[in-house]
Amino acid sequence: MSLLDQLAKEYVDLTLIKHQFYDQWDVYWLADTLFWKRQDLMFSRTSPHYPYKPLDSSCLTPDQAEMTLEDILCAALDVKTALQDLEGKCCESEEIRRKYLLEHVRSLIVRCRLLLGEKIKYNYYTTEMFGLCSPPWKSEPLEKASEELAQFLPCSSNFGDGVQNFKKSLRIPGERASSVINAAAAYFHEMSMCRMGIKDNGMPRLRYRKLNGEEFVTVLFGYDRDGISIEQNFGSDYPFYMDTLCEVVGHEMEPGHFTFMHLRTKGMVDTGYRELGMIAHSPSSALIEGCARVAVEMCLDTPENKEMFDRELFHIAGLDCGLAKLLPVWQRFSEAVNYGKLEIQRKIWDGEWSKKQALDFAKTYHILPDNAREQALDSFPKDLGHFTSHDYCRDRMRIYFQTHWEKQSDRWAAYKLISQKPFTMAGILDGSFDPFDSWEGA
Ligand SMILES: [Zn+2]
Repeated sequence: MSLLDQLAKEYVDLTLIKHQFYDQWDVYWLADTLFWKRQDLMFSRTSPHYPYKPLDSSCLTPDQAEMTLEDILCAALDVKTALQDLEGKCCESEEIRRKYLLEHVRSLIVRCRLLLGEKIKYNYYTTEMFGLCSPPWKSEPLEKASEELAQFLPCSSNFGDGVQNFKKSLRIPGERASSVINAAAAYFHEMSMCRMGIKDNGMPRLRYRKLNGEEFVTVLFGYDRDGISIEQNFGSDYPFYMDTLCEVVGHEMEPGHFTFMHLRTKGMVDTGYRELGMIAHSPSSALIEGCARVAVEMCLDTPENKEMFDRELFHIAGLDCGLAKLLPVWQRFSEAVNYGKLEIQRKIWDGEWSKKQALDFAKTYHILPDNAREQALDSFPKDLGHFTSHDYCRDRMRIYFQTHWEKQSDRWAAYKLISQKPFTMAGILDGSFDPFDSWEGA
């Protein structure tokens, strides 16, 4: 085992110990052996906890099982120093792996510091955690998107009411939700096969059941280098909307997260890089979020394709198909709204705004309805730095794909490669990372 292999193993072990004992939501995905299938039926189709392979504490040494957060932090700092000491000593193909590990150990370190109670500023946290720092808030994009939307919204007494009413009109009737989701999933599966060579039998099984308010619960049954067996359980009691449907279907499944995680596993097997089998909060988790959104956009890459896709689903949902043509304008508004939410989270986190100030801001820009109360702010996603690692990362990945590759087929090939190999967020942001560069696992 090379020194780099040992440091990678240590990074993975420390993250898993932290996850198991101190940070339940941290690990998105863990493929820790080459080929794996579930050996018991002890899983839940209703609980979102440990959606993928549950960790088994028996694989930890007694010393590891006793590690405190302080111990994990100390050990992570040692790994960081050892990786820094390797600067200039790695061959070219190992250098990108060294940098990948450095960025990921940095995330582990800042996460431990936060969990230990240290006060950390929002931008500092997202920079250390994801390698991303969202720009300062600007009101113009949201004002412009609101003006554009106001011209199209069916008449209402005021803009805020119009926004709320439009959202309501996008609600998919409960009894039609499974038909709409099935049709969208079939479309994205077909696109993933055509554009990325994904195999037909890799499509997730879809089930619908009452999930007590959860949107979905994922159960992983097994994977190997070339295949994946996964089940997505959708909440039959969850309200689905046409404007966010692609997020629950294309984004969460194919060609988004499931495809990405499967390709990561393939990359792990091909390289023997253990760290590729795990996705925890880090530049990798931001990458997977940004890429999932861009991949959905690439499936609907012309206004005509998008409108056809939307019209078909509106039809299946039994909703007014005329509303489909308003979706692009609505989605531009929603994207701008999310930057407003980012600002709210940042200002509250940094202690610069009280909840009241945040609520006033949210109402001024129609981010929340006029009658919203402070509790409505609690409905924002809870994962720390969410809008930076999701929305801002999407915008950066969009720019990255669009400026590097003109042809859509090259962008798909790039997405496929990025999913499988070590990268650096810094290299994506400054454009220096090229997934087509030859690498050991290729
Ligand atoms: Zn996601």
